[in-house]
Amino acid sequence: MMVHQDYKELLTAKALNALDAEDARALETHLQSCADCRAELIGWEETAALLSLAADVRGPSDELRGRILESLGTTANSAEAERSNVTGPVGSSRDSKVLEFERPRRSVFSSGSSRAFGAIAAALVLVTLLASLLLLWQQNRRAQAEMARLSAQIELSRSQLARERAAMELLTSPGARMAKLAGTKDAPGAQAMIAYNTKGHAMLMARGLPAVPEGMAYQLWFIKDGKKMPGKVLMPDATGNGIMEDEIPEVAREAGVFALTLEPQSGVQVPTGAIYLISAT
Ligand SMILES: [Zn+2]
Repeated sequence: MMVHQDYKELLTAKALNALDAEDARALETHLQSCADCRAELIGWEETAALLSLAADVRGPSDELRGRILESLGTTANSAEAERSNVTGPVGSSRDSKVLEFERPRRSVFSSGSSRAFGAIAAALVLVTLLASLLLLWQQNRRAQAEMARLSAQIELSRSQLARERAAMELLTSPGARMAKLAGTKDAPGAQAMIAYNTKGHAMLMARGLPAVPEGMAYQLWFIKDGKKMPGKVLMPDATGNGIMEDEIPEVAREAGVFALTLEPQSGVQVPTGAIYLISAT
């Protein structure tokens, strides 16, 4: 199933009359509903028209004609060669969408004069150049998409790194404390640690948490003398890891117990779910 972005990449070939029938039909249907693609196509058609006008002005010198034909890998002798040149495939064979360039019919086409032939050859070179440029442009866009994907990954690692650094700072600050949380029978592979400073600013880092059902998440609890005070809600990532910051109520900073339960995503005031992680009591 092609999407808008796929159609956009066909527009250049369309402007060169270089689409196969199937793609051309599909693009035609898409154009009816996409003003963006219609506008872009007009731009490419204007470019293609300008280039073909430029090629029509005057034929190149005999010497230049020879070089052009040489670069096209053909001989300049027979009229047959002229014709096969004009209708033969141009552009890169790597792009299967670009099948062949259908040259607009012109009077120059049948005159067979040397000058006209030169103009055709020059037009072919321009079309070949244009096709190469379009291919490069498309490859560049694919490269840009890949770059965007990679920078998103780097951004993710950077924010993880920033949080880990913040945790380190918290841990090494004067009077900092740390508690370990162990997995219960519901999460034997899970473990977590909570680091907090004298002001109660805390960072919880958890690993190996089981995936949560839709609409659910883990909620942190601060427990002191049997009183359970709600903390924030943690949504683990796909690998069961999660980091979050929270503020520990003053009463729970000394000899408090920390626990994680499975709760509705919006969090609750009183725990309702099973305990998955708990610190030593
Ligand atoms: Zn579109």
